Amino acid sequence: MENVKTTEKKQTAEQKPSIYSLQLDELKDWLKENNEKAFRAAQIFEWLYQKRVASFEDMTNLSKALRDKLNETFTLTTLKTLIQQTSSDGTIKFLFELHDGYSIETVLMRHEYGNSVCVTTQVGCRIGCTFCASTLGGLKRNLEAGEIVAQVVKVQQALDETDERVSSVVIMGIGEPFDNYDHMMSFLRIINHDDGLNIGARHITVSTSGIIPKIYKFADENMQINFAVSLHAPNTEIRSRLMPINRAYKLPDLMEAIRYYVDKTGRRVSFEYGLFGSVNDQVEHAEELASLIKGLKCHVNLIPVNYVPERDYVRTPKDQIFAFEKALKNRGVNVTIRREQGHDIDAACGQLRAKERKEETR
Ligand code: SF4
Repeated sequence: MENVKTTEKKQTAEQKPSIYSLQLDELKDWLKENNEKAFRAAQIFEWLYQKRVASFEDMTNLSKALRDKLNETFTLTTLKTLIQQTSSDGTIKFLFELHDGYSIETVLMRHEYGNSVCVTTQVGCRIGCTFCASTLGGLKRNLEAGEIVAQVVKVQQALDETDERVSSVVIMGIGEPFDNYDHMMSFLRIINHDDGLNIGARHITVSTSGIIPKIYKFADENMQINFAVSLHAPNTEIRSRLMPINRAYKLPDLMEAIRYYVDKTGRRVSFEYGLFGSVNDQVEHAEELASLIKGLKCHVNLIPVNYVPERDYVRTPKDQIFAFEKALKNRGVNVTIRREQGHDIDAACGQLRAKERKEETR
């Protein structure tokens, strides 16, 4: 395991807006307000997302006056790499520091079909899933769209060294994306834009713990983005135990919202189902789960949980994982067991940040 660590230093909370937060049209408006030609926006996007320069000074086909104006108004370096850990399977985990001293995690995962980046949408999280290290310190703040975009750009810059490309993005890192809905949508539009990072909608996945009103809103956006729900339980009782959000947004209502999404978009939904030893991993739970999702265009991802030191849950034995999978398959459910990645580098959501930044997660 390779571990590159840089010195930590708190910065002031004063910060110019990130240029990565701007849509192409917003940049055009800004240019017009500053007596510049709108076509410069496409040139700036090219410097940001195709050439991925590290400073406005490097945007050499812009006038010196415009470069200075951009520099006075926006920031380009919103994330500072504190740690970059490379696992034996090629997974790279980044710990980035934000301008106000908070830190966030981003993970690059290697798949046969390409390189996938898992981004964080909030500093901490207020959803309070009982199995999750990210929830230990609660929610500190939402990330701006540009801070989410910058995570993908940073990872792409790391891949540029070996001439590789980020081919997909999953919004499954720390935070509940639907609790930071507008910034998340803005992020999606920027990375999906032809002149932005140009990551196809079908290569982007958003995962929610189940904020029902936002599921309806997201369905009505009618984007071709993949949609996942962290279900983790076959019934109300177990879900409330694992995910307190189930008390506010109840399982039957959640299933109704998911059915609306599938009907409206024609797209299937993925269910994330973490297997927690003796809690939700018995064959009867698989049977109950199959009944719950019966008739729904869906796929189930079984996730053998990583041990989280601060929590009590234990791993499901291997033969039990296969028995669970088989019980679902026998009932016609599309199911896969998620391959574990980065096992030697604090791979569970929030573990790296929790370990390195104890003061933030208390
Ligand atoms: S699992 Fe996700 S939604 Fe639940 S507390 Fe952790 S970060 Fe938040």
